[in-house]
Amino acid sequence: MATRFENGIVVTLGKHNRVIWNGAVVSDGESIVAVGEAADLKKRFPEADTVDCAGKIILPGFICTHHHFYSTMARGMAIPGEPASNFVEILERLWWKVDKAIDGEDITLSAQIPLIECIRNGTTTIIDHHASPSMREGSLDLIENAVREAGLRASLCYEVSDRNQPGGGTKENERFIKKVGRGDGQIAAMMGLHASFTLSDQTIETCVGIAEDAGVGCHIHVAEDAADRKDSLAKYGVPTVERLHKLNVTGEKSIFVHCVHVDESEMDTIAATKTAVVHNPESNMNNAVGVTKVLKMLEKGILVGLGSDGMSSDMLAQMRCAYLLHRLDNHDPRVAFMEAPQMLLGNNADIVERQFGIRVGELAEGRPADMAILDYQPPTPLNADNFLGHLIFGLVDATVDTTVCRGQILMQNKQILSMDEERIAARSRELAPQMWKRL
Ligand SMILES: [Zn+2]
Repeated sequence: MATRFENGIVVTLGKHNRVIWNGAVVSDGESIVAVGEAADLKKRFPEADTVDCAGKIILPGFICTHHHFYSTMARGMAIPGEPASNFVEILERLWWKVDKAIDGEDITLSAQIPLIECIRNGTTTIIDHHASPSMREGSLDLIENAVREAGLRASLCYEVSDRNQPGGGTKENERFIKKVGRGDGQIAAMMGLHASFTLSDQTIETCVGIAEDAGVGCHIHVAEDAADRKDSLAKYGVPTVERLHKLNVTGEKSIFVHCVHVDESEMDTIAATKTAVVHNPESNMNNAVGVTKVLKMLEKGILVGLGSDGMSSDMLAQMRCAYLLHRLDNHDPRVAFMEAPQMLLGNNADIVERQFGIRVGELAEGRPADMAILDYQPPTPLNADNFLGHLIFGLVDATVDTTVCRGQILMQNKQILSMDEERIAARSRELAPQMWKRL
């Protein structure tokens, strides 16, 4: 049955961005079948169900290309001991304790909570990086079930690391990759690797072999902190990207997350191998690790996308953070106006296409019916030429009213339809303190 999402301002994005006032998008099944003037589409699809979008703007669903669902249950937790003074201490005192404490039902809940938040923020496609060393086996299936129940799209992987046991997580990741295969457009798989400084050559070689056999890429944190670069130089005599390149981790399907501490020749390697980079500005600021030289990378033709690294599921907030950060970092108020939206709206869609084999991020006939519909009454004229101004200074603070993924309405009038938000949050409040005690 077709549905007309009508009477809103439609912003198509894609290569030929169009802004259509009194526009409509018609979905049928999982796909968009028409985009245009509301009056025209009413004539062409008179039988369709209708969703009135008056006073709203209809955009393609947002994409997060690096997330950690599992980090949710640490929210509000007191961290024992002295405050961490650097990045490695943050991992040792917080995240490596949290991931070890997550068990059983926590895995499902700690995925469901951010999935609800993704729906609330209109984020319809997520590339996640999971770790739960106390319960590895089957953990990705639990997350997959949560994603399918939520109705969103996600690429999943398990974070392989030698830090608890040599090659820990390889089996779970391999099992899931084989199970998912080429994916069904809703669930995809990658080979997850933690970071160079917690991985031996042997573990990386094994994982790259599995990924190559299956035709999937690797999803790895790269030079997030200076410590990762220092470790690689000390142990292997080359900086992080060069080490990973020698081990064949680079490539068009791979994602190098962060790349804060990389030099120009490493950037050239990333560009030459068409490896994607994902920038996480809020997370980098939170961990005080430094500023990724995103503008230089984009100049070199590197595909740089935008993630949240578990900080939140609000991708417009990540976009504005990137816009502000790179203006300040470059001491130049002329930069980042084009680049920050490009990372979120264009480059993230390119990265998803490499992973899922589908083209999201555009409202056009034949494209997946993934939409974020936000309350927005433009206070000034809005057209394709000035859309970015509205995006950065207006839409970033607008509320998402309706979220659609694969043609399914997951939230309408700000009510989550696909999941029981109240029950899930209550159960998570119950289990989180127990998880905190296991730290
Ligand atoms: Zn991360």
